Amino acid sequence: MPPSPALVWFRRDLRLSDHAALSAAVAAGGPVIPVFILDPETEALGAAPKWRLGLSVAALAQALAARGSRLILRRGPAREVLRALTAETGARAVHWTRLYDPASVARDRGVKAALKADGIAATSHPGHVLFEPMGVTTGQGGYFRVYTPFWRAVKDREVPLPLSAPGTLQAPDAWPGSDDMATWAMGGAMNRGAEIVCAHQSVGEDAAQDRLAAFTAARIGAYKAERDRPDIEATSRLSENLTYGEISAAAVWHAGYAGMLRGAAGAEHFLKELVWRDFAWHLIHHTPHIVRDNWRPEWNGFPWQADDVPRWSRGMTGEPMVDAGMRQMYVTGSMHNRLRMLVASYLTKHLMTHWRIGMDWFADCLTDWDPASNAMGWQWTAGSGPDAAPYFRIYNPALQAEKFDPEGLYRRRFVAGFEGSRHPDALSYFDAIPRSWGLTATSPYPAPMVGLDAGRMRALRVHEDFVASRRDLAV
Ligand code: FAD
Repeated sequence: MPPSPALVWFRRDLRLSDHAALSAAVAAGGPVIPVFILDPETEALGAAPKWRLGLSVAALAQALAARGSRLILRRGPAREVLRALTAETGARAVHWTRLYDPASVARDRGVKAALKADGIAATSHPGHVLFEPMGVTTGQGGYFRVYTPFWRAVKDREVPLPLSAPGTLQAPDAWPGSDDMATWAMGGAMNRGAEIVCAHQSVGEDAAQDRLAAFTAARIGAYKAERDRPDIEATSRLSENLTYGEISAAAVWHAGYAGMLRGAAGAEHFLKELVWRDFAWHLIHHTPHIVRDNWRPEWNGFPWQADDVPRWSRGMTGEPMVDAGMRQMYVTGSMHNRLRMLVASYLTKHLMTHWRIGMDWFADCLTDWDPASNAMGWQWTAGSGPDAAPYFRIYNPALQAEKFDPEGLYRRRFVAGFEGSRHPDALSYFDAIPRSWGLTATSPYPAPMVGLDAGRMRALRVHEDFVASRRDLAV
């Protein structure tokens, strides 16, 4: 009897190399049927990540076609789709890469149970992170709440060398039917933005490998010194590729490690940053409430005050550094890490607005959106998260600009009119935004929403009152 087909269910692992699930299916010796499912969890993605995911799926389909294979596209709840596909194709095995966020965990548990009940071998594999969250424990057997000990616990562990992409994938005798991705309209919610944001994406496995190679060849040495400068191309920009798994974290780790062995000054720091991503997945696995609720319950009841949030989300706060960050995100689908911290601090502290509102806006706009890093980043900045910045650390946008954008290059790039800027990226913002916002390149730049000192003092006062009231409650 020839081996029966195996399904490989692709999710956030849209690559062929270093893909344990794919390699296991190939090693079984039978036909391999790659599948991508537009399930309700994927349908729920924000506008930009959903659109960007569509590009990634298309790139994977092309890469598979180049190996004589196909990516089968289906829509519907994963459990039903996979059961139907195994029945249609005679597949006796389904492989996928493990995820750790609560929505994926709940779905995958249901899928595994249903397939097993049908007598199908359902196997999940590692590959999304460097160190699986359940495999990193404190001396007491718990999970890590603080980054530095987490780093110490993992930094000397062996990261397996990346697996090569399979040379060929055996096709089944007959391919099952597939949806046409055009009918999925993955970019349907992008409004006018897709065309503008598209120019800033590097889609697919080859592009991700090129990006990594360019970074390790030219920029890794200065990474530590320059990574906080949004006016310089100093970081890898790999988050966009890592989030869809167009490249594995292990491949990035080994390239960074090789840089370290070569003596590149910034390489170890780069590895540390990469491990922040693992730490985020560690936290989401062990404390899934981080995605919606205050990680620290003592923050429950904090008197957030809804300020004029649309001015923040539209990059119209009147603080050029904050607005440059917000507009960078709208035009490029990404935002420099320094700016993510700054705009999050401004929203949650100067504007006293709940971190969840900012987190959700990022989830709609970032093409590198990642449920774990986004939730951790917002709660870290707001002060409600584990290992968080203390509440009294309130970034001052003017000082941040002086320090990290000393010549104003970044602000001129993204804020039309700042020092007379007519930079193409600054102008393209007005072509990307919905017309209903009523903004054009000639709209006057607004006065600041809140004085920097006044906003800071208000935030500190409210926080101190809140802490005092909790103390009273406890008495
Ligand atoms: P590099 O500096 O080149 O770092 C290499 C890789 O390390 C990154 O690609 C990323 O995978 C990882 N990394 C670096 N810094 C961090 C960090 N602070 N936290 C977690 N991982 C990190 N990152 C996302 O990928 N998706 C998000 O949705 C996201 N939301 C964020 C929200 C807020 C409020 C904050 C403060 C940070 C957020 N980050 C998020 C983390 C960080 O800003 C981005 O990973 C980083 O800007 C990506 O740029 P890069 O690829 O050039 O990073």
